[in-house]
Amino acid sequence: MTREPCDGCGRSVQIAGGIANLWSFGGDRTEGLTLELADGSEFLLCYDCIERLPDDHDVTAEDVAALPSHEDRTSSGDDGGDEA
Ligand SMILES: [Zn+2]
Repeated sequence: MTREPCDGCGRSVQIAGGIANLWSFGGDRTEGLTLELADGSEFLLCYDCIERLPDDHDVTAEDVAALPSHEDRTSSGDDGGDEA
């Protein structure tokens, strides 16, 4: 097992050492997997990102790039101050 950053959201994900078990969701407790696109490029994605990928067409590098960053959820400076 190893940890690599998700190419979609940037979060560190735990993956199996190889990519031999692609799409075998049964055994290994991994947090992501390597997705090989039709053009031969590969991306490591966590399952959250994989679920966000479109399933009505072949995934492209643009789809991966469009995935929301894990850091997008940070607060927008709201520290509870009240405005008079
Ligand atoms: Zn991700």
